[in-house]
Amino acid sequence: MSGSVVIIGAGIVGAACARALSGAAMNVTVLERGSTASATSAMCEGNLLVSDKGPGLELQLAQYAASLWSRTVADLIAELGPDFPPLEYERKGGLVAATTAEGAQPLLDFAARQRSAGVDAHELTRDQTHRLEPELTPHVTAAVLYPEDSQVQPVIATEALLASARRRGASVRTGVTVTGGVHDSGGRLVGVSTSGGDIRADHIVNAAGPWSGDVARVLGVGLPVRPRRGNVLVTTRMAHRVFHKVYDGDYVGATQSADVGLQTSSVVETTAAGTVLIGSSREQCGFDDSLRITPLREIAAKAIRLFPFLATASVMRSYGGFRPYMPDHLPVIGQDHRMPGLWHATGHEGAGIGLSLATAELLRAGITDCEVEASFPIDIASFAVNRASLAPYLAEAA
Ligand SMILES: Cc1cc2nc3c(=O)[nH]c(=O)nc-3n(C[C@H](O)[C@H](O)[C@H](O)COP(=O)(O)OP(=O)(O)OC[C@H]3O[C@@H](n4cnc5c(N)ncnc54)[C@H](O)[C@@H]3O)c2cc1C
Repeated sequence: MSGSVVIIGAGIVGAACARALSGAAMNVTVLERGSTASATSAMCEGNLLVSDKGPGLELQLAQYAASLWSRTVADLIAELGPDFPPLEYERKGGLVAATTAEGAQPLLDFAARQRSAGVDAHELTRDQTHRLEPELTPHVTAAVLYPEDSQVQPVIATEALLASARRRGASVRTGVTVTGGVHDSGGRLVGVSTSGGDIRADHIVNAAGPWSGDVARVLGVGLPVRPRRGNVLVTTRMAHRVFHKVYDGDYVGATQSADVGLQTSSVVETTAAGTVLIGSSREQCGFDDSLRITPLREIAAKAIRLFPFLATASVMRSYGGFRPYMPDHLPVIGQDHRMPGLWHATGHEGAGIGLSLATAELLRAGITDCEVEASFPIDIASFAVNRASLAPYLAEAA
C-alpha cells in the first residue's frame, strides 16, 4: 500500500473516492455515522446531466464524468456479477422545452453556447419535439434535445461503488461519527477522533455532503457548505408516457441561482418501475425537513403545464433531501491549503450523483500526485479551496 486514507461519509462521493483510491493501492477506511447511502444520495434523483450546465468548469467536470459513467458501470457489472441489483444506468437523453414566448430565445442561445463547448445539443422543431414526447403540451415555443444526458439509480450506484472498493481492500465502518481531528505538532491533520476512538491516516477526505461544513469545523477549518433543501413528487405506476428527462427552461436558472427563497422548476421523467418522478424545489431553510406544501404544489403545477395528462395522476409520495450548496456554485475538490492532510470532496449541490466519479478521479490524482486521465485538460487547481471565487465566503465561514 502506498499510504492510508480516511474518508468521512459513505454517500456517493465518499463511495466513488473509496473505489478510486483503493484502486490506486491506498489503504482506505470509510467512516459513516449512519448507514451507507442513507443521506442525500438516497433522497435525490439520479440524473447525470450536461444539459443544465453552461460553458465553464462545472460543465467540463460533467463532460468528464459522462465519459466515466458508461465505462464504470460496465466495469462494476463485470466485477460484481449478475446477483448485484441493476444500476439502472440509461442514456435516455434530456429534452428541454420552453413554453413561453420569452423563454424560447434564451434557451436556444444557451444551447448554442453549450455547443461551442462541445455539448451535443440539437434544436428541435415542434413536430420533432412531439414525435419524441407525444404527451408534451402543444404550447412548446422552443425545444432542445441533449442525447448525452443519462441517469442511474443513485443508492444502488453508491452501494456498487462501495462493494467494489471493499473488493479492492477498503474497509467501510458504519455507525462511526467523526468528532474532531488529530494533529501533529506542525498542525498537519494526521487522523480523526471518532465515537469509536482515534483513527490515524496520511490523508483525511471530507466527503460529508451537506454536513461538510460541520465536519470541516470540528477538524479546525471553516468551509461554507450549506444545506439547500429539495423535494420530489412520485406518482403511482403507469404505462410509460414520458420517454426522456423533460424539463422546462427555468431549471437552468434554478441550479445557478443563489436565491435563498423557494425556487421550483419542473423535471419530469419515468422510472424503470413505471412511476413518474417530478422534481424539484430549491430552498435554503437549514436542515428543516418539516412537510411544506407550497413547494410541492408549485412543482406539481409546473409539471402539469409541461404534461397536461399529469393533472389526473395520483401522487404516491414525496421525498426530499439537502443538497450540499456552495456559494460560488462549484464543488471543492483538493487539499485544504490551511491544513495539510485534509482534503475535500464536497459541495456538489444538485449534481453530486453525476459528478461523483469525476470528483473521485481528481482527488485520486491529487493524493497520488498523478495526472487526470481525461481526454481534455482539466485544471484541478480551479476546484481548490483557495480559488478566488470562494475567498469572501471562506472568511465568513472561519
Ligand atoms: C431533491 C434532490 C434531487 C437531486 N437530484 C440530483 C440529480 O438528479 N443528479 C445529481 O447528480 N444530483 C442530484 N442531487 C444532488 C445529490 O443528491 C448530491 O449532490 C449528492 O448526493 C451528494 O453526495 P454526498 O456523498 O456528497 O453526500 P451524502 O449522500 O449526504 O453523504 C454524506 C454522508 O456523510 C455522513 N456524515 C456527515 N457527517 C458525518 C460525521 N461527522 N461522521 C461520519 N459521517 C458523517 C452522512 O451521514 C452522509 O451519509 C439532488 C439532491 C436533492 C436533494
